[in-house]
Amino acid sequence: MEQVDAVVIGAGVVGLAVGRALALAGREVMVLESANAIGTGTSSRNSEVIHAGIYYPAGSLKARLCVQGKGLLYAYCTERGVAHQRMGKLIVATRPEQVPTLDGIVAKAAANGVHDLQKLSAAQARALEPALACEAALLSPSTGVVDSHGLMLALQGDLENAGGLLALLSPVQGIGLQQGTATHPIRVITQDGTELACRTLVNAAGLNAVALARGMQGLAQDLLPSAHFAKGNYFTLAGKAPFSRLIYPVPEAAGLGVHLTLDLGGQAKFGPDVQWVDDPADLQVDPRRGDAFYDEVRRYWPDLQDGALQPGYAGMRPKISGPHEAAADFMIQGPAEHGVPGLVNLLGIESPGLTSSLAIAAEVCARLA
Ligand SMILES: Cc1cc2nc3c(=O)[nH]c(=O)nc-3n(C[C@H](O)[C@H](O)[C@H](O)COP(=O)(O)OP(=O)(O)OC[C@H]3O[C@@H](n4cnc5c(N)ncnc54)[C@H](O)[C@@H]3O)c2cc1C
Repeated sequence: MEQVDAVVIGAGVVGLAVGRALALAGREVMVLESANAIGTGTSSRNSEVIHAGIYYPAGSLKARLCVQGKGLLYAYCTERGVAHQRMGKLIVATRPEQVPTLDGIVAKAAANGVHDLQKLSAAQARALEPALACEAALLSPSTGVVDSHGLMLALQGDLENAGGLLALLSPVQGIGLQQGTATHPIRVITQDGTELACRTLVNAAGLNAVALARGMQGLAQDLLPSAHFAKGNYFTLAGKAPFSRLIYPVPEAAGLGVHLTLDLGGQAKFGPDVQWVDDPADLQVDPRRGDAFYDEVRRYWPDLQDGALQPGYAGMRPKISGPHEAAADFMIQGPAEHGVPGLVNLLGIESPGLTSSLAIAAEVCARLA
């Protein structure tokens, strides 16, 4: 059996960030990816937003790692020349009764260490975005957008420059926690029968992470959550974007609302919505779901024309809470949680996982130290 110091499963943005951090810390690292390229999972099917860290419950991993990750990500993108733009976002109250909610959002953000929100009157908001209809708004200047593929290529470059290896087309099929060698006790088996013995194993398999953890021989199962999947469908706007900042309605019970994001080319898209599904591979966008977008969008952009929205793409959220449960936090289970030295399972790494990726990597290294 071949021996490797550290194995990371999954070459999405989180696995690459973790592999890079371990390699930069002097570890011998191999990242195993089942697909034939990096970042073909959720990391290439998201909004590419660098989130400010506003809405997450104070003290949660999502709040802490998003705010830390945002700072790390802007610095990293600048240093490594990864395309990004800090264009800001407006959170808009479209009904008078929503206006007081904005103060609650300011307080929630402050509890997370986000102190840069600016309250705007309707006139001030329209001075920034003339096409906008609203009663009042908040400007989040530290929200932005990043080229997620460029980010992953930079992370891969750092991993490899630090001596790390990326093995594509290497799906992990079996893991035995006490089945390796005396010095490298974790055994990892890939689909072609290759066996690796490692001291550290980080499961960053995204949509597949819970299933992989459940299959680990020697891991107590009672700590593991169940996996759920929620598709997010996007509809794109043909033609020129009406706004130059991201536009989010005040969040209501079911999520962040149908918001508008921009890519780095200035193309506008609306979504993602929330569609609970059983099959994580179900990434088709049903055009009929677009019907519900029109009323939502017209609350803040009344000029949206009938027929202007086209089905775009969909991403899949790796949920660890079900449709009728409170939204779960990121679940990072290291030796302190499950008692297995050298093992970290990253579960439920949904949004803001892209923003948080560098901070998640630092957190994993800390938990392994
Ligand atoms: C609709 C949507 C919108 C989002 N928008 C944002 C946003 O704007 N901002 C933000 O911060 N976050 C956003 N997110 C969240 C963000 O995209 C994810 O948190 C992040 O991409 C997760 O990265 P990952 O590396 O954990 O997972 P993935 O990108 O899914 O990578 C996991 C990798 O593991 C591989 N793998 C799986 N099983 C195995 C195996 N057995 N062996 C080897 N490899 C395996 C997969 O092929 C895949 O490449 C969004 C998510 C969704 C769904």
